[in-house]
Amino acid sequence: MQADIQINAHWVAPLSASHSRTILHNQAVFVKDGKILAIQDQHATSHEADQVVELNDHILLPGYVNAHGHAAMSLFRGLADDLPLMTWLNQHIWPAEGRWVSEEFVHQGTRLAIAEMLKCGTTSYADMYFYPQSGVQAAIDSGIRNVSFTPILDFPTNFAQNADDYIDKALAAHKQFHNQPRITLGLGPHAPYTVSDEPLKHITMLADQLDIPVQIHLHETAFEVAQSLEQSGKRPTQRLAELGFLTERVSCVHMTQISDDDIQILQQSGASVVHCPESNLKLASGFCPTARLLSKGINLGLGTDGAASNNDLNIQGEMKTAAMLAKAVAEDAAALPAWQALEMATIGSAKALGIEDQVGSLEAGKQADLQAVNLAQLGQSPLYDPISQLVYTDSSRATEYVWVAGKALLEKGQLTESTGLDEQQLIANAAQWQKKISQH
Ligand SMILES: [Zn+2]
Repeated sequence: MQADIQINAHWVAPLSASHSRTILHNQAVFVKDGKILAIQDQHATSHEADQVVELNDHILLPGYVNAHGHAAMSLFRGLADDLPLMTWLNQHIWPAEGRWVSEEFVHQGTRLAIAEMLKCGTTSYADMYFYPQSGVQAAIDSGIRNVSFTPILDFPTNFAQNADDYIDKALAAHKQFHNQPRITLGLGPHAPYTVSDEPLKHITMLADQLDIPVQIHLHETAFEVAQSLEQSGKRPTQRLAELGFLTERVSCVHMTQISDDDIQILQQSGASVVHCPESNLKLASGFCPTARLLSKGINLGLGTDGAASNNDLNIQGEMKTAAMLAKAVAEDAAALPAWQALEMATIGSAKALGIEDQVGSLEAGKQADLQAVNLAQLGQSPLYDPISQLVYTDSSRATEYVWVAGKALLEKGQLTESTGLDEQQLIANAAQWQKKISQH
């Protein structure tokens, strides 16, 4: 059969069910019509291709899936550091958002975020931000894959007035984009402390009707849990479970301060957890017990959160932090080994977002969302185990190729013309925003 592209790679890590923790050698991945056609031995293939890419020093693997973030907040990167969550939100981020966030801000901030993510091997990202149409349009234009959760809150922002208004706007975004390739629209109730019971029930009903994913910040801090106990007598997880909110379509972001009861509720609901270790560390929010959750069969994805609380969107670095933190939290060096961190960043995140039938592993029939990392580098030498190099060294700058739906978006470390993203222009544009924002 004639394929569009044949990618010959020294190592291939499919992360598929049949090759879950196996590295294949000297394989060719064939891509046709944006999907993976086959993975075969380079020297015994039954296919031919219009274009052949030779990657003799590279490992080819699924693109990373960044399962949580606020893309446009990249324009607030470094605006307010070294503060606890509620001070950071109430005194810095929410006022800055009130002053600056607009359709234009979201479009330009999202473009900056997409460029940074593509350069680190991310092919899909979740976004929870205002003016989703502007963010989604930036994703469509660049060629990256996006799951956009329209935020829903009880109180007014520049974007909407009350919970019903946010929900109307979420539905409008869904209506406009749900047929777009590479785009999924979901609902993003911000957190249990910012959304009341009635809208949460409404969101559950709508998500079922439309068959779409839902994402919420949950158990981010000890304060959130204590406040909920004081106000309702229930822990946030318990309150959401009693509302019927927690289901397989929900991803719960953060999940620190977890009790045995919380774990049982998560297990029974089938909801996923999205771990954002660097944001949790920077805001001193708490620790998500990843090894414990995985041992209970709970699906874990990995996210960077927004650049204002990280301050980068590098999923490779996030894998390393997740692995290190898990060991410290479990007091066990064997906790969250490299393979498991890589699974979180790929198939685990895809599952958390409900797109695991399309991406997250390399399998015939899935979307050709791929990345290739050059391991013949100083910082990756010598090489005993490619997965160890991917997770435990700084391999993000060694990412040289990225394809989404079979289209090359990064080549030899440079964003391709088809992305419409010019690095120098993005840097200059971000500098203009910084000047404006700093003056106020
Ligand atoms: Zn967040």
